[in-house]
Amino acid sequence: MKKYYSENWYQATEKFVKNASRFADVRWCVADNHTFDIPYVLIGNGSDKIVINSGIHGIEGYFGSAAQNLFLDKFVPALDKKFLGKHTICLIHVINGWGMQNRMREVADKTRGGLVDLNRNFGVDFSSPETLPQNPKYELAHDLLLSMPDEKIKKENIKRFRAEHLHDGVWDAISFGQYKHPYGLFYGGAAPMVENKMTLHIYDDVMRDAKSLMSIGMHTGLGRFDRKRGRVTGQLLVSHPAQHKNTQYFKNVFTDVVSDERAVNGPVLLGDLVDCLEARYGTDDVPVYTADFEIGTGEYPIMSPIYKRMDMGDARYDLLNYGVISSQTLNNLTESWYPSDARWRGDALRQAWLLFSGIVTKTR
Ligand SMILES: [Zn+2]
Repeated sequence: MKKYYSENWYQATEKFVKNASRFADVRWCVADNHTFDIPYVLIGNGSDKIVINSGIHGIEGYFGSAAQNLFLDKFVPALDKKFLGKHTICLIHVINGWGMQNRMREVADKTRGGLVDLNRNFGVDFSSPETLPQNPKYELAHDLLLSMPDEKIKKENIKRFRAEHLHDGVWDAISFGQYKHPYGLFYGGAAPMVENKMTLHIYDDVMRDAKSLMSIGMHTGLGRFDRKRGRVTGQLLVSHPAQHKNTQYFKNVFTDVVSDERAVNGPVLLGDLVDCLEARYGTDDVPVYTADFEIGTGEYPIMSPIYKRMDMGDARYDLLNYGVISSQTLNNLTESWYPSDARWRGDALRQAWLLFSGIVTKTR
């Protein structure tokens, strides 16, 4: 499994292009003055589209890229003519290359400032402050999260905050996305980011003659890795309640291959890709099924979300006060989203294997 992982964005991109070229011409989405182009490949020529994207959160691209290479190596060669006549499989490789290269989940907005979570930047009306989505509950947590890094005291404070706000919606609201604090957590930006425009450009290319779309984003990171208590989970996150037809669709396709008991649930995020795709392409004639596949890294559900928020806040404290993220904080961030542990890396790809098996055997 190790060979699928890469050391940096350049190596990952080279590997992906080489692997994907065996099956089809690799296409590139390129933007002016943008260092990190996005390669993608279309395999098959059917009108039922299946898209697997990676690295919308930069650092998560290390796993996402590896999973896509696994897919190209082990699954694509076995696809038969019938499948490829009915479906087109599109792999979009690492949307946030800057973040992957810099081991950050977000991308730095060099013109306007701030760290932008690209998965809170889709389909948002940025035309005026009044049209921006509101998240007043986030405000209650902001100062605490961005307080001075302190492994013991800050962790205890966040733990206490979680206990106090677990049932009033405030704890959950932290990750929904916010548009007020450029250096706050889960910041959705002040304008559409170039990576977001590139992503939608690629989807437009894919969807030109589409009769349906299933799109899955590859994600990691439910908190800092813990060698003793951490476990690798695979969760398929959909943005609809259990009874919704999209949720039912994913349950039918994946429930017996994605074993985790929380395999399907519904977070409500602002400005995320899955909702944007449904709004952009979904019609009565063209069903659109979207989800994120999230590989867990830590001791879920209590400690890992605490660490995750603390590490993200520490990074912002460092940036605002020293202009750079300390090596300790950067290391914590890395362990939260891309654990160095070899067993985690292997297990994460085994979860992806289950997901891919569902895709190639259950979609009709
Ligand atoms: Zn993610």
